[in-house]
Amino acid sequence: MTERTNRQLLLARRPVGDVADSDFELRVEPVAPLDEGQLLIRNLWLSFDPTQRGWLNPVESYVPPVAIGEVMRASGVGQVVESRHPGFVPGEFVSGLFGWQDWVVSNGMTAMGPVQKVPAGIDPKAVLGVFGVTGVTAYFGMLDLGQPTPGCTVLVSGAAGATGSVAGQVAKIKGAGRVIGIAGGADKCAWLVERGGFDAAIDYKSDDVEARIRAEAPNGVDVFFDNVGGPILEAALNNLAMRARVVLCGGISSYNAVELPPGPRNYMQLVIMRARMEGFIVIDYLDRWAEAVGALAVWVHDGLIHYEEDIQEGLEHAPATLRRLFEGRNLGKQLLKITDPPII
Ligand code: NAP
Repeated sequence: MTERTNRQLLLARRPVGDVADSDFELRVEPVAPLDEGQLLIRNLWLSFDPTQRGWLNPVESYVPPVAIGEVMRASGVGQVVESRHPGFVPGEFVSGLFGWQDWVVSNGMTAMGPVQKVPAGIDPKAVLGVFGVTGVTAYFGMLDLGQPTPGCTVLVSGAAGATGSVAGQVAKIKGAGRVIGIAGGADKCAWLVERGGFDAAIDYKSDDVEARIRAEAPNGVDVFFDNVGGPILEAALNNLAMRARVVLCGGISSYNAVELPPGPRNYMQLVIMRARMEGFIVIDYLDRWAEAVGALAVWVHDGLIHYEEDIQEGLEHAPATLRRLFEGRNLGKQLLKITDPPII
């Protein structure tokens, strides 16, 4: 049997501020032979998600923090290479919480749920993006919380990212009259209008965001889907329409903060405009996952949703790839390819 070596990146210490390469250490060890009931997965693509930064802090959130000495937690897609598990055969593409490592030995479960088979007929890595957490988050955040009505005005921050880009397009599909995206840089803003079908894009790195929102949404914003928080949230709150919905999907502008900033200072705008601000976590929707993926698959197939993937390469570049999210280097879903598929 082939001798297989597993490279694993373990959390060595908790980052202060931005994640550093030295916050992780490499362990190299042989892959143990399988026991009855186990399967061996070659990890192929890793997903990078802003929430991973929160998992590194020593605080309990919706999941426990990654422990010091633990393999860095991450979603991945891989291929079954050997199986002594009755439910899996070699060659199948699977997804799960596989972590920053080359190989995964599993009994069919990962730390947060079962190893899932990738449905036939789709690009396997799409289950990490448009047909996975970010797509499903966009779907339920926009539709269940945002509740866009025909003709309404929708504003999305982090709009050129994996979640925001889909959220804006979902609103458009549901008949929103005007969808405005906020993103960093001219290239991302061009993508939003030319490819993503947004009606307007605001470059928060060079524009006066609040003035541009006022100009683009003269009657106010009915739905604000926020991925960013901070000054962008405040600018949006100052431009709400009566009975607006503010969807708190994320607040990436403060994920690296050593001390959390106060705010939003102008939350009383919610009172004045009789508006509602509500957060959610996508795992609340596990029982409706298939509904979202089914709808997204039809819209992608019909050309109504466009999505991008930014694919970095090499497990050793995982910490730098996580940083890309906070540097705004990714357009669309941030992935890292560990090795070329198919393995067998
Ligand atoms: P993403 O949007 O693909 O990537 C992150 C983007 O955030 C970057 O490309 C960057 O774009 C922007 N950004 C980074 N730092 C920023 C800052 N200081 N100010 C403004 N923008 C900044 O990532 P994603 O995975 O789709 O996640 C987007 C948001 O959704 C995150 O807040 C995440 O936590 C949240 N989320 C929530 C749930 C949930 O269940 N509630 C699930 C998934 C994701 P620019 O170039 O535009 O700056």
